Amino acid sequence: MKVLVVSDVVSPAVYNEAAPERFGHIDLAFSCGDLPYDYLEFIVSALNVPLLYVHGNHDRPLLTDGADLEAPRGCINVHRRVVEAEGLLVGGLEGSPRYRPGARFQYNDREVRGLIRRMTPRLLVNKILRGRALDVLLAHSPPRGIHDHSDPAHQGFPALLTFMDRFRPRYLIHGHTYPRPGEFPQLEYRGTSVIQVQGHTVLEVSPWDCGDG
Ligand SMILES: [Zn+2]
Repeated sequence: MKVLVVSDVVSPAVYNEAAPERFGHIDLAFSCGDLPYDYLEFIVSALNVPLLYVHGNHDRPLLTDGADLEAPRGCINVHRRVVEAEGLLVGGLEGSPRYRPGARFQYNDREVRGLIRRMTPRLLVNKILRGRALDVLLAHSPPRGIHDHSDPAHQGFPALLTFMDRFRPRYLIHGHTYPRPGEFPQLEYRGTSVIQVQGHTVLEVSPWDCGDG
């Protein structure tokens, strides 16, 4: 199935009145965070597809006429959860490494391990009943050593390496970091495709049990 993935930067090609025509073949949309909520709401209404998302460290409430909007309307937050969408099992982990004490959507590696522990019962049930823990992990930040940078805000989480070792998602899709020169946006880690998105991309995605992998 075709999935539109957006992250970090608003793409003029998507935020466009021609979007329904351009992306009419899309089955599902993912956001890896750091995007305005009204942009995500536009995607849902223009393409009429479910949009699954995690928050990025730069996410802020959307100022509306009434109260501040804390989350995009009509979109599905998959942080700390595993949900099924169009036959795909999709989990999520929001946020970046902590670089400012007390800030929202920032975690240290120990906290990320705690979040993963809370997802573990569902992942294990999926493994038993569905033959795989999950197909896709949506994350804002990359794993340690893959698409990450050396500054504290952009270091990858070691916990995500452990997650892939244990639960073997087919894809880990993230944003947050910009590609370094010569680095591929899709890298393989022990059977998981780690895919970095900035702006937008369209991916052909299939679950573990009905694809060619
Ligand atoms: Zn970020």
